[in-house]
Amino acid sequence: MEHLSHDILIIGGGAAGLRAAIAAAELNPKLDIAIVSKVYPMRSHTVSAEGGMAAVLRTDYDNFDLHAYDTIKGSDFLADQDAVEFFVKEAPKESIRLEHWGCPFSRDPDGRISVRAFGGMSVKRTLFATDKIGFHLLHTLFQTSLKFENIRRYDEWFATSILVDNGQVDGVTAIDIRSGELVSFLAKAVVIATGGCGRIYQFTTNGWIKTGDGMAMAYRVGVPLKDMEMVQYHPTLLPNTGILITEAARGEGGHLLNKDGERFLKRYVPNKMELGPRDILSRAEMTEIKEGRGFEGPYGSYVNLDLTHLGAETIEAKLPFVKELAERYLGIDPVHEMIPVRPGQHYMMGGVHTDIHGYTGLPGLYAAGEMACVSMNGANRLGSNSLTECLVFGAEAGIGAAEYAIKQRSPSFGNPVQGLALEEEKRIYDRVLKSETGEKISTVRAEMQKTMEEHACGLLGDLKKRMKNAVVEDKDRVYNTDLVSALELDFMLDIAETIAYAALARKESRGAHSRTDYPKRDDVQFLKHLVVYETGTVPRIDTMPVSITRWKPEARVY
Ligand SMILES: Cc1cc2nc3c(=O)[nH]c(=O)nc-3n(C[C@H](O)[C@H](O)[C@H](O)COP(=O)(O)OP(=O)(O)OC[C@H]3O[C@@H](n4cnc5c(N)ncnc54)[C@H](O)[C@@H]3O)c2cc1C
Repeated sequence: MEHLSHDILIIGGGAAGLRAAIAAAELNPKLDIAIVSKVYPMRSHTVSAEGGMAAVLRTDYDNFDLHAYDTIKGSDFLADQDAVEFFVKEAPKESIRLEHWGCPFSRDPDGRISVRAFGGMSVKRTLFATDKIGFHLLHTLFQTSLKFENIRRYDEWFATSILVDNGQVDGVTAIDIRSGELVSFLAKAVVIATGGCGRIYQFTTNGWIKTGDGMAMAYRVGVPLKDMEMVQYHPTLLPNTGILITEAARGEGGHLLNKDGERFLKRYVPNKMELGPRDILSRAEMTEIKEGRGFEGPYGSYVNLDLTHLGAETIEAKLPFVKELAERYLGIDPVHEMIPVRPGQHYMMGGVHTDIHGYTGLPGLYAAGEMACVSMNGANRLGSNSLTECLVFGAEAGIGAAEYAIKQRSPSFGNPVQGLALEEEKRIYDRVLKSETGEKISTVRAEMQKTMEEHACGLLGDLKKRMKNAVVEDKDRVYNTDLVSALELDFMLDIAETIAYAALARKESRGAHSRTDYPKRDDVQFLKHLVVYETGTVPRIDTMPVSITRWKPEARVY
């Protein structure tokens, strides 16, 4: 088997991965850094972010404590407050850095970067670039990464496992999708930034590539996953496709209406209305629908998002992408007609456990972005905090990996690393690819997605067994996307199980986690993180304390 060597490997070319690469490259131009990404970096899910990124820039009315408090209250007091305090202070620095690198933010007439209102934020602090922040942010990072001669890329390479020897990370194995060959990448430090896992669910805003690969790879080498039961549902998805209509539509003044034309949120979040947090809004919509005040359409039940009172000028200037999406995917002009919407999976608060510097606890392994859990989002993330999180903690992980790598010697391709890589080759080509008689990958995937709407732990165990015999129909090696899908599904089944088991163990309702059998928040028993470990059979659940610095838990009313 071929093997390649770099000082630092970054798995993922989204906001977190690119930011980590730049931070490491800036720290020491002698470090040899490689980014491995299963898609071209500009196709990472970050590109689809619409609404904006949060940071305290308007110090005339805003401050760090307010941003921290909003984030902690939004998290239903499960966020680690030391991480949040670090985050809010770094956020403005990262935004200004991005601006200096050329990110074309929308601006006020006086030249300052514009800010808009966002759910759960007390004041306007979300910077934006019309309603395409992800596209512009990712372009800016990508172009900046090209300036560094010590960053090289492996685009369309699929990482399959992390190589660990003697309690320390030595690299990863990855398939060159073009040739279908498995290669070992040796490295002194690895940063995983592979994004979320929304594709575990049937109805999601997430791109097809969001399959939790990095979470599963880390889990399989013994790193715990934290807050996995905390899965965010966003209140405004197009009912036919799951495409997101950004929260910015409400930030700019859009209303949610039920069948009676009523702004029903007055019964749920009277002080915040459409700018309440996502968990509460999504549940409010489901209650309206359940109690018969929703609409019925060809794609199920929905409520209406009304932008008609905003006028053509505001919609063209600030929400052009919302207009384009509504027109293209539903044939609706939001200047004159209401947009049908319903809740769906959007974001993972949980992920690989890390400290504030992106360190996972396994020497040499760092993690950042949606796949990591530092945890600053706790039980519910506030919209527009995530992109900034990718920048702040992406940079930390890059610096952490660089500082570690500088002190390490290069691993060699002897045993046991070579043996691990050969075992991985056997798993992929002799077991996953060779199977001739079982079910289709797509059948198992569809059943997993259905199961996740019900959170049934036992069924997921059965699906894992069925997956062992599932058939990859394309037996060729070149551009075998069927094989990649099989490996992704194998990752997703592990992650699905961690979500289901953690959800079962948390016997309370908090933030996004809502149980009809335990409808109340229970700070006595559950003001703590659940962490999940791989055991080979059913996942093992343990706990970690929540860091509380200055904000005592209180009732979460809006
Ligand atoms: C539609 C939508 C709109 C959003 N809008 C906003 C917003 O306005 N504001 C906000 O703050 N947040 C928003 N979010 C959330 C935010 O965009 C994401 O959480 C964030 O972009 C995640 O970035 P990331 O770098 O962690 O991962 P991603 O951008 O998902 O990148 C993951 C990278 O990992 C690579 N990868 C994955 N698996 C492998 C593997 N096995 N081998 C090799 N490479 C791999 C991929 O190729 C990719 O490059 C939105 C999310 C969605 C879905």
